[in-house]
Amino acid sequence: MGRLFVETLSGPKIFKCKCCKVDFASHDDIVSKDFQGRFGRAYLFRNVVNVSLGPIEERELISGLHTVNDIYCSSCQQILGWRYEKAYEPSQKYKEGMYILEKERMLKEGW
Ligand SMILES: [Zn+2]
Repeated sequence: MGRLFVETLSGPKIFKCKCCKVDFASHDDIVSKDFQGRFGRAYLFRNVVNVSLGPIEERELISGLHTVNDIYCSSCQQILGWRYEKAYEPSQKYKEGMYILEKERMLKEGW
């Protein structure tokens, strides 16, 4: 126990944690920028790193009922958004396994 393993992403456009600056996601993994989070605009990503999952729960979102986990920075523990575990509406199924990251909680460094 003790040492935290931090993954590093490569590429020119990386989103980082606003608090502790670990890498979260690549710009190339954005599926949509048109999402609403708790704190404003949020992005949908197909892949993120350095996050830990909270307990699974049912949540009624703008787009219907979903099973989600909140996600936290695995380094500084700030809440970042959520992960879609399951969507009930057929039109929302594409989001299963994807992640919402709040724009407000991320940092764009050097681009
Ligand atoms: Zn952090």
